[in-house]
Amino acid sequence: MSVAENLNRINLLIEENCRLADREKSAVKLLAVSKTKPIEAILAAYQQGQTAFGENYVQEGVEKILALQQLGIRPQWHFIGPLQSNKTRAVAEHFDWMQTLDRVKIASRLNEQRPPHKAPLNVLIQINISDESSKSGIPPSQMLSLAQHIVTMPNLCLRGLMAIPAATRDQHMQIAAFDAMAKLFQRLQQAYPTQNIDTLSMGMSDDMATAIRCGSTMVRIGSAIFGQRS
Ligand SMILES: *Cc1c(COP(=O)(O)O)cnc(C)c1O
Repeated sequence: MSVAENLNRINLLIEENCRLADREKSAVKLLAVSKTKPIEAILAAYQQGQTAFGENYVQEGVEKILALQQLGIRPQWHFIGPLQSNKTRAVAEHFDWMQTLDRVKIASRLNEQRPPHKAPLNVLIQINISDESSKSGIPPSQMLSLAQHIVTMPNLCLRGLMAIPAATRDQHMQIAAFDAMAKLFQRLQQAYPTQNIDTLSMGMSDDMATAIRCGSTMVRIGSAIFGQRS
């Protein structure tokens, strides 16, 4: 199947699952995860109306951003990979969103390095919801203290939370992790009622339907749009 066909199918699936969950279709945004995929694939999705793309690797992402910019194409770019502090500048300068924020040090650097002529960088706090030692993200207990630092930074805009729960086919475990994220998201919204905390980024190709039913506002879909990665 082509990227265009896959994209249409995913958009229909989002719509269907929103209906099942009694939610508006516009309540769930689609982030197309284009890591390792060529410019042509991104262009195909863009021409089909897809406007938000996610990249995991700084250098690869920046190369694609600049290549598309040369063609006059400027979608919304989300950084969704682990970020080392020596690579923050490229993210601050080129991306619109950073979804994997999990340290004050990275937040400070992004805040300092965000070019003044650009809108504040939208950020999500990454939560290690399944408590896996291999995963980045902070434990839920540290969410509010990190948020407290971020909201003082003028060049960052805190928009919500992101998580990558442990991979499992057990739907009860999927639901438990997503429900826990939805509760944390509510707590963050209650703590900052005047901030625009509107984004709960969870759900990938294999667990998108469950994530939407549990309250996700942004699903990050790679292989179901662009095919398996080698
Ligand atoms: C690769 C990746 C995705 C997309 O995964 P698929 O299973 O291909 O849909 C989503 N989120 C993050 C953080 C990723 O690294």
